[in-house]
Amino acid sequence: MTLPTRLFIDGARRNSSSGEFTTLVNPATEQPCAEVAAADPADVTAAVESAQKAWESGWRDLAPGKREAVLHAVARKLREHAEEIAQLETLQIGKPITDARDEVGLGARVFEYYAGAVTKFCGQTIPVGRGGFDFTLRQPMGVVACIVPWNFPFPIGCWKAAPALASGNCVVLKPASLSPLTALKLGELAHAAGLPPGVLQVLAGKGAAIGDALITHPFIRKISFTGSTEIGKHIMELAARDLKRLSLELGGKSPNIVFADADWERAAETSPMSVFANTGQDCCARSRLFVEREIYQPFVERFVAATQKLRVGDPALPETQLGPLVSSGQRATVEDYLADARCRGSTFACGGGRLHAKGCYLEPTVLLNVNKTDRCWQEEIFGPVVCVTPFDDEAQMIREVNASPYGLSGSLWTNDLRRAIRVAKAVESGVLSVNCHNSVHTEAPFGGYKQSGIGRDLGMAAMEGYTELKNVYVAE
Ligand code: NAD
Ligand code: MN
Repeated sequence: MTLPTRLFIDGARRNSSSGEFTTLVNPATEQPCAEVAAADPADVTAAVESAQKAWESGWRDLAPGKREAVLHAVARKLREHAEEIAQLETLQIGKPITDARDEVGLGARVFEYYAGAVTKFCGQTIPVGRGGFDFTLRQPMGVVACIVPWNFPFPIGCWKAAPALASGNCVVLKPASLSPLTALKLGELAHAAGLPPGVLQVLAGKGAAIGDALITHPFIRKISFTGSTEIGKHIMELAARDLKRLSLELGGKSPNIVFADADWERAAETSPMSVFANTGQDCCARSRLFVEREIYQPFVERFVAATQKLRVGDPALPETQLGPLVSSGQRATVEDYLADARCRGSTFACGGGRLHAKGCYLEPTVLLNVNKTDRCWQEEIFGPVVCVTPFDDEAQMIREVNASPYGLSGSLWTNDLRRAIRVAKAVESGVLSVNCHNSVHTEAPFGGYKQSGIGRDLGMAAMEGYTELKNVYVAE
């Protein structure tokens, strides 16, 4: 397999103008696996200008049926190359191959969904006081910067690029420096499927080196960012200078709430993957587990037993459920939290150590007796660590749930319908799942409350976010 290691600008592969490269390391082996061109500010200018040209010279005015057809062709091309994309994802970030295959399918599905949206997302006619004729238009913005993290590189790239393109914008996609390969492949395949040159550019490179130049470029009309809350705040500050449109999907510290009246055995069996999937490197990870006191002991026993059965190892094997952390740096960050938990006196019900002789592996770790003022309770760890706490009173539990500055996701387990509705309304989060852990759906809005973000990905809400709303009045 030849790796896509060059920038993708104006429909062609390019080295960076500085000639610089980033070395990728496979976290499962800790061996270098690719040298990828690292963009610099001159490449940003070239990419943004080429995208602007593509936008003005046709993409925005393309007949809806044609734009729909191209996006369907992109989806088909992604499905044809699905195995190759999945292998690239596993190589660069150590994602278990079974998950990687599912996520490529999800990415293709997102292109299909937004291909259909092209002809169904529209304005209104409005009866106004003056008579005449009043109508609204949903107009594309221009060039959109899509900035993506390393934990779900391919699907999140698709979540952003597909609705941006469907609504008539051109895109500059910036993957994280740890995970450029699948984004570069997406650029190549999308153009091979018929996307005109310049409509989708891919800039690999360090956010610190090119992020500011990209965000502040005058042709960039909107920034769609997924990543850490810290970088999200920085981007919002920069965007404020020119009042650029912005959507931010940021960190989380999501709750998993289990009431005694629930099918708590099923909750205990399924909850490990709600926090440990993707080795805990998931913005939706249910990393604070609230269990009603009367079932706390048996629940924890079952939950820990199910955690210890998780298969952690070589991400290339189809039976693997958890791979390594994305990098030795990320593992060190998580180990810092574990050290803090140890010295604060938390109980390690399981895990806490490294696994395997090589590779950035950590055991899935269940912490009990964590103080609510400890870092492990308060901060997003972004690794395979969960804090479990008993609760007695629903109202007090909800206060603790909502004390977090984050509000992205969460799960709620109960068989009492009125309680389900009451608690679902009270939890401050953008998405929530009842009696399961699935809260991300292509067709439904996804995003956060509070410091988990602004704006929504997916569903028709994303189309709103990539368009301006214009009102036109025609006199009688
Ligand atoms: P990060 O914020 O370090 O990086 C995200 C992206 O921003 C990368 O492409 C990076 O290169 C780029 N970047 C860095 N500095 C920049 C700058 N100055 N200007 C512009 N871009 C810049 O995050 P990460 O470490 O890649 O990802 C982990 C974080 O992402 C976690 O906090 C996680 O919760 C969050 N996340 C959120 C969601 C969500 O939907 N809410 C989804 C996945 C990940
Ligand atoms: Mn980072």
